[in-house]
Amino acid sequence: MSWFTGDPTYDTILFLAFVLVGMVVVAARVIQSPYGRFASPRYGVSVDPRLGWFLMELPATLSFLYFFSQGPNSGDLVPMIFAGVWCIHYANRGFIFPALMRVARGSKSSFGLLVVVSGWVVTSLHGYLSGSYFSEFGSYPDSWLDDPRFIIGIGIYFSGLALNVHSDAIVRNLRSRDEVAAGIKRYRIPHGGLFRYVSSPSYFAELMAWIGFAIFTWSPGALFIFGISAANLIPRAFATHRWYQEKFPEYPRDRKVLIPFVL
Ligand code: NDP
Repeated sequence: MSWFTGDPTYDTILFLAFVLVGMVVVAARVIQSPYGRFASPRYGVSVDPRLGWFLMELPATLSFLYFFSQGPNSGDLVPMIFAGVWCIHYANRGFIFPALMRVARGSKSSFGLLVVVSGWVVTSLHGYLSGSYFSEFGSYPDSWLDDPRFIIGIGIYFSGLALNVHSDAIVRNLRSRDEVAAGIKRYRIPHGGLFRYVSSPSYFAELMAWIGFAIFTWSPGALFIFGISAANLIPRAFATHRWYQEKFPEYPRDRKVLIPFVL
């Protein structure tokens, strides 16, 4: 199949990746990924969430670096900038975020192995689709840096990343180090930052970052990761909002689900 880049392997995998997005749209309406507050023994073996996140995200870095390095344009300026942004993104998600997680000592493993394994499909595909496109199939002359898509998109991306990191930090600090060292696992209502407006600001910011990424790279792999993240995170944001409302009678009534003032 060759319909986008002219390379049958790339185009076939791209097609299958978009089919996968459609499948996740359907599946995520029925079940939430079984990790964290939605973990369930019904979906099989679970691992420590720090290990789960690390393992799940690892193929994004490995497959990206491998496929990117194979492309003839991997030494060009713009592809190298894209690769730099990629490394920043996945250094946070795949290494820093899991390392900083506060998991109660001795608490039950809560990251479904099923999530790790299905995550591998997504992270490997994303690495391949983006890595090969940036260094081989896409066309990114140095003048791309003056293109409004690059300037606007990278601004949106880094704003989203900053808000995402900030929102994740607010959630992390809901549990003190002493508390987790003592084996206490407690959920609390987050306040401050974008939590003033929505229940899932990390998801809002994550989606914002991927929209920015799609704009500044103008690439199909970015569209794939935005689509699959939206398919996954939008229903999870609704489930999280309901979960907070049911668990905490005092939960702020004017807080929206995902998009400040809108949804
Ligand atoms: P988790 O539900 O695993 O939460 C992260 C950590 O915060 C866990 O240690 C969790 O504890 C703890 N926590 C969550 N809520 C509370 C609370 N109310 N009180 C105390 N502790 C709490 O991960 P998320 O689903 O929140 O996602 C984490 C990040 O990953 C986000 O930035 C998100 O955008 C991103 N992500 C991206 C996806 C994508 O498709 N691109 C998919 C999923 C996430 P515990 O484990 O005990 O519940």
